[in-house]
Amino acid sequence: MTASSQVVELFDLVIFGGTGDLAVRKLLPALFHRFADGQIPAGSRIIGIAREALDDDGYRALLRKALVASDGSLGAEQLDTFLQLVAYRPLDARKADGWDDFAALIGEHPDHVRVFYLSTSPELFVDICARLGQYGLNQGASRVVLEKPVGRDLASANQINDDVGRVFDESQTFRIDHYLGKETVQNLLALRFGNALFEPLWNAGHIDHVQITVAETIGVGHRAAYYDRAGALRDMLQNHMLQLLCMVAMEPPSSLSPDAVRDEKLKVLRALKPIDDSNAAQLTVRGQYRAGVAEGASVPGYPDELGNAKSNTETFVALKAEIANWRWAGVPFYLRTGKRLPNRVSEIVVVFKAVPHSIFDPSTGSLAQNRLVLRLQPDEGVKLWLTIKHPGPGGLRLRHVPLDMSFAEAFGVQQRDAYERLLLDVVRGNPTLFMRRDEVEAAWRWADPILAAWGASGVPPKPYAAGSWGPSAAVALIERDGRTWHDDSE
Ligand code: NAP
Repeated sequence: MTASSQVVELFDLVIFGGTGDLAVRKLLPALFHRFADGQIPAGSRIIGIAREALDDDGYRALLRKALVASDGSLGAEQLDTFLQLVAYRPLDARKADGWDDFAALIGEHPDHVRVFYLSTSPELFVDICARLGQYGLNQGASRVVLEKPVGRDLASANQINDDVGRVFDESQTFRIDHYLGKETVQNLLALRFGNALFEPLWNAGHIDHVQITVAETIGVGHRAAYYDRAGALRDMLQNHMLQLLCMVAMEPPSSLSPDAVRDEKLKVLRALKPIDDSNAAQLTVRGQYRAGVAEGASVPGYPDELGNAKSNTETFVALKAEIANWRWAGVPFYLRTGKRLPNRVSEIVVVFKAVPHSIFDPSTGSLAQNRLVLRLQPDEGVKLWLTIKHPGPGGLRLRHVPLDMSFAEAFGVQQRDAYERLLLDVVRGNPTLFMRRDEVEAAWRWADPILAAWGASGVPPKPYAAGSWGPSAAVALIERDGRTWHDDSE
């Protein structure tokens, strides 16, 4: 065990939606890894809840299968010990049956930290919280975790927050955005505020522009019905990507205390220049994938996957955002995200300004702008692109090369999922990496007029072939400004 992996207090973690995709594929493996690392004390409990009629052993068998499938090297003995922490109670969040039994189970350990993780569709949040309140289960150190999406616009986000707020106060409410749990995002804090090198340059005087890309190769698959009600802006940009933008753009917080960090992020969200009817056509591009080739195979288009040729839901969005404050005035933040793109990659690229004057003969090579690339996935790490002299004889030839630090290579550790850190932060009661209500509201306040402008325009999303980087208009969006999307292979 390392110093950073201290044993947490005894807890009961209740996962509503305990048989769902997120719980089985992400939350339970994350808990297992923390357990295997010695951070979860024996006596803690993980309680799955769903409607399916399972008993404890049935649920354990389901999890065992999923855990082994996710990592074939797991030791059977350790898995057995972990699964002894797990229990299951069947209940329908919308009905009264089963809650007495569940409340009695929770009541067995009034001294445990209680975490109620709502890994269900948001429509169930109000019923679940109302029952937790009715049974007096919000006692002592209790917390509630809300999975995204928190609403589909400002009004519905307010409704969810009000409903949850009737039972849990803001300090107990953890709105999870797993991007904030990624190593690279925390490394952004370390790079910016732990080195004297970057902060003096971190402003409009020295930074030309910032790019944030979250590209997926997968299509919507079995999530088509959910996705069609959301789209790329609601699913990715309004939450994950704006959070990344905030981490890049925020002023130095006075400390790493939860509110100091979140106050600074909130100021960024509030300073975003509005995008609405008047400028959405110039500043945003919507796309929807069609049949093409992804990951070496022919794949159908979105309308075919959905079974609806008339859907106007975007599976791709690119936009140019600006932050109206002294630090960032005039520095564009280009954001793009989409499904069925050529590579699975999430990265932040900070592009510095060109040198003011070149002393080199053009025959020595071009002078590229410095770039700081923070890669969140697949291989978390940092690259700083610099211009150097190509080594060896043959005169002065300039080359643009990266100082490359892959965290996995540099530290010889296997990257762990962001949920591992975030779940234990909830147990510890540390909300720094979770979204406060006013942040969610500010993000919707900015996103709603974009959605409204798209709806009012009646212009459908532009088609793009699966396996391409989205509609050509997304390339034009940045090239119009004399810039190009970052290509790591350059
Ligand atoms: P899912 O696979 O559809 O799972 C839903 C879970 O809720 C199942 O365990 C289901 O089991 C249970 N459930 C449904 N209705 C219920 C009811 N009335 N009472 C009690 N339990 C009920 O969904 P998911 O993909 O895990 O997503 C869960 C939440 O996380 C969603 O809000 C989603 O947007 C969010 N999220 C998911 C992912 C992901 O990677 N999957 C990523 C980010 C956010 P029964 O049908 O047996 O009741």
